[in-house]
Formats: sequence, C-alpha cells, structure tokens
Amino acid sequence: MQPPITDPAVLAGYLTDASNVPGRADALFRPRSAEEVAEVLAAATAQGVPVTVTARRTSTTAAAVPRGGWLLSTERLCTVHALDDADAGVLLGEYQAQVAAAGRLFPPDPTSRHDCSLGGAIACNASGARSFRYGPTRPWVRAVDVVLPDGRILHADRDTPIPADWPLPAWTEPGVKTAAGYFPADNLLDLMIGQEGTLGVITRAWLRLTDAPAGVLSLIAFFDDADALRAFVRRARDGARRPGRLARPGALDPAAIEYYGPHALDMVRARVPDVPAAAIGALFIEIEHDGEPPLDRWWDALVDGGALADDTVVAEDERGRERLLAVRHAIPAGVNERVVHNGMPKVGTDFAVPDDALAPMMAAYDAVDMDKICFGHIGDNHLHLNLLPRTADELARAKAIYRQLALQAVALGGTVSAEHGIGKLKRALLADMVGPDALAGFQALKRHLDPGFVLGRGNILAGPVDDAAPNY
Ligand SMILES: Cc1cc2nc3c(=O)[nH]c(=O)nc-3n(C[C@H](O)[C@H](O)[C@H](O)COP(=O)(O)OP(=O)(O)OC[C@H]3O[C@@H](n4cnc5c(N)ncnc54)[C@H](O)[C@@H]3O)c2cc1C
Repeated sequence: MQPPITDPAVLAGYLTDASNVPGRADALFRPRSAEEVAEVLAAATAQGVPVTVTARRTSTTAAAVPRGGWLLSTERLCTVHALDDADAGVLLGEYQAQVAAAGRLFPPDPTSRHDCSLGGAIACNASGARSFRYGPTRPWVRAVDVVLPDGRILHADRDTPIPADWPLPAWTEPGVKTAAGYFPADNLLDLMIGQEGTLGVITRAWLRLTDAPAGVLSLIAFFDDADALRAFVRRARDGARRPGRLARPGALDPAAIEYYGPHALDMVRARVPDVPAAAIGALFIEIEHDGEPPLDRWWDALVDGGALADDTVVAEDERGRERLLAVRHAIPAGVNERVVHNGMPKVGTDFAVPDDALAPMMAAYDAVDMDKICFGHIGDNHLHLNLLPRTADELARAKAIYRQLALQAVALGGTVSAEHGIGKLKRALLADMVGPDALAGFQALKRHLDPGFVLGRGNILAGPVDDAAPNY
C-alpha cells in the first residue's frame, strides 16, 4: 500500500464539497489502480477506519465530505482506454468531448459536467437537461469494475447476478426521475450505480454511446400565463422520445425542456436584453434534428400554445446556441452572487413529481414567502426551488419550508431527490420517503457488505457512529 498523505495543507483541499459542509480527515490515498484501491479498503476494513471516496467534490449533499478517517481520491484513475471505456476519475466533460470528436454522444449532462468525474456521475446516477430524452447516467453504463469494502475486485455488467446471500431491500421506487436510496436492482451493475460511494468504489467503466444528432435547434419561448406554459409542456412532451420509448410520428419531440420562473427571469433581465416585459415564465427547449431544423412546426405550436411567439429567441448554430446558453448561465451565476451577498447558504430543492402533480407542486413553490428562484427540468417535473435566506432565522425557516415541501412531493407520489442524491444532508427525507421497512432493508444490505460502515460513512444511512446530523 502506498504511504498515505497526512500533510494538513494537502488534506485541506479535500475536506468539503459543493455543500460547503466542513469535514475532517487523517489521511489521503490517491491510488492508481483497482488493486491499490483494494489494498486501502481491505486495510480500512481490517482496522475499522472510515473511508470516504472523493472525486471532484461537486456533490451538493456533503456526500464527498469526510467525517474523519481516510480519504480515497479517484483523481489518479484518469485514463480513457477506448472511446467507450474510461477510468472513474476522468473528468466527465473531457470524456464527452473526446466522444463528440468521434461523432458520438455520451448523453448524461449534469450542469457540473465540466467539473465532475465520470465515476462521480455513475456513483450518483447523475442527470441533466437531456435526461428527458436519454434518461440518467444508469442506462449509459454497460459495466464497471468495482472494489467492495473488504477489498474484493468485481467486474459487474447487467448479466452479473447479485450474490445470493446479499440481503436485498424490497421496495419500489416512485415512478419519477429519482436518485434516492439503493436502486431495486436485479443485477450487480445496477446496484452499484447510484450508491453514493457506500457499497463499493467504481474504478473503471464501460459506456454505451449513441450517434450524435446532425443538428440541435435551441429556443427560449416566453409566456405571460403559467397555465399556458404548463399546457405547452404537456403538448411538447406528448409522444416525445423518452427513455425506453420511441417518439410518436409527428410529435414535437424535444430533447430537453427547461423552465425559468418569474424570479429567474428577473435575474436574466438584469444581464441580457432579450426578455419581454410581460413574460412570467420561459421554456428553454432543445430539439435534435437530422439536418433540417423543424422551425415551422415549433413556430406553429408556440403561436397555437399562447407563447409570446414574436419574442422567441432561436439558435440554429453554435454561435446562437452560445447566446442562449448565456441566458441559461445567468441564473446559477445570479443565484451564487445572491448567496455571497446574503452571506447565507441557499436551500435548494431537488424534488420530482408525476406529470399530474406538476401544477400543485408549482403552486406550493409559488406560495413560499421568501426570496426565491425557481428553475429546472420541467420536462421531468423536476424543478429546483432555491430559497435565498438573508438571516439565520430565515435559514431556519427555509429548512422547515424545505421539509414541508419534501413531504408534499412524497405525498404526491414524487421523490425527495431526482438527481443530487441523498448524501449526508437528506437522510431524514429519504426516511420520510421510503418508510421504515425499506430503510431497514438498505441497512441490512449495507451491514452485510460493510459491517463496520467503513465506506462512505454517513451517506444515505446513518452509520454506527456518525456526528453528521441530517440537515433537512
Ligand atoms: C453547480 C453544480 C451543478 C450540478 N448539476 C447537477 C446536475 O445537473 N445533475 C446532477 O445529477 N447533479 C448535479 N450536480 C451534483 C454533482 O455534480 C453530481 O452528483 C456529480 O456527479 C458528482 O461528481 P463528482 O466527481 O464531483 O463526485 P464527488 O462530489 O466527489 O462525490 C459524490 C459522491 O460520489 C461518490 N463517488 C465519487 N466517485 C466515486 C467512485 N468512483 N466510486 C464510488 N463512489 C464514488 C463519493 O463518495 C460521494 O458520495 C451539480 C453540482 C454542482 C456544484
């Protein structure tokens, strides 16, 4: 086993993630192979030392924050072996660029793709705007090498059975986009996707690619009426290609439908001139095509659907797309500025609900009386409501509101996390969502594979000793 790094100055760079929750660790390992990962995990298990896998630390749920013990960084597992075969530590955006240069597409597109790792995206089953059409990371992974907490190295694909003596939780996921809890898997690969660094360390992955579309038409359509906007979303997704389903002939068939609420538009207005004064909401839509952008069809649909059609901003080429992306990026940039100005963290939801629950969920978001910005993946009924507290009292109130909204999402048949995962901050919400039996099932599986709760301690489940209290 390589000697660990214990220099506090080096460790300091690994102690938090995008959640800003502070962590602590005694040592850092940066293995270069699955065998070296196995040595670290076997030693940790033998000594009962917690190990936190850390990749690019873009987790928003403190999943990569260590609560003592050792850190295992995947940064040196960084080789792209072939177009469809890469190490876990490779930057997702760089990998996708290599794939794109060959005219192919690896669809998972979390907003953080230029900052996060491939292994992190697999471990969290990350999603993005294109998940509407292509699904999350899961279906795009064909196989992984994974190291179990006891140091065993396994190769897992969808034909690899889960060993018969592993106790599997019996539960059903809500029928929405979700990244909460262990996947009810019938093969070892699917169990290892979305486990947030608690069941094994993914060292290498074999990916599924598809052909890149010949062209992408992007547009931002503005609405002055929320009901018309939602009706247009229903129309746009009617018959669209979705994961596991082909498009119905004649359907509008967008690849992504993103939403910007009124406060998000105000933020955009401050930065770009294209937002009409009457707009109370907007849809950012991407349409893949075979070289002939279907502009007329979309124009007719927008006019018919009550959009402020003359104000629609359309991009048919890369330059135009960049202009549109500037509008999109204005929102997270504006949120971050507000957070810095307030000196308080934002409290951001990640709930998704079934189609027929979108309107009541949006009504609940609208009713929240606090500085807020709502935007996100409306095609999947998955919006991020960002509460922006200005004082400690408001922060406490924001967390209480968040919990109430989570319960409402669950009551409507939704999930408490559609893409960011549970990590350490949302364990109480997961318990609310899955109930005690499923939770006991998750615990039994974890205990079987990792009796000392050594790996990813505090993520998804409370460990035997865990001082990281859930935040919500
Ligand atoms: C600005 C911003 C935008 C984001 N947008 C999105 C989005 O659109 N969609 C989305 O889904 N998420 C999003 N995220 C969340 C986050 O980027 C993703 O979950 C990402 O996949 C995490 O990758 P990472 O390399 O940073 O992992 P880390 O943050 O380092 O780790 C995340 C978790 O995965 C585990 N892990 C990492 N690598 C491995 C491995 N090889 N084997 C086992 N476990 C491992 C860690 O232990 C930890 O539990 C966003 C985050 C930020 C800050």
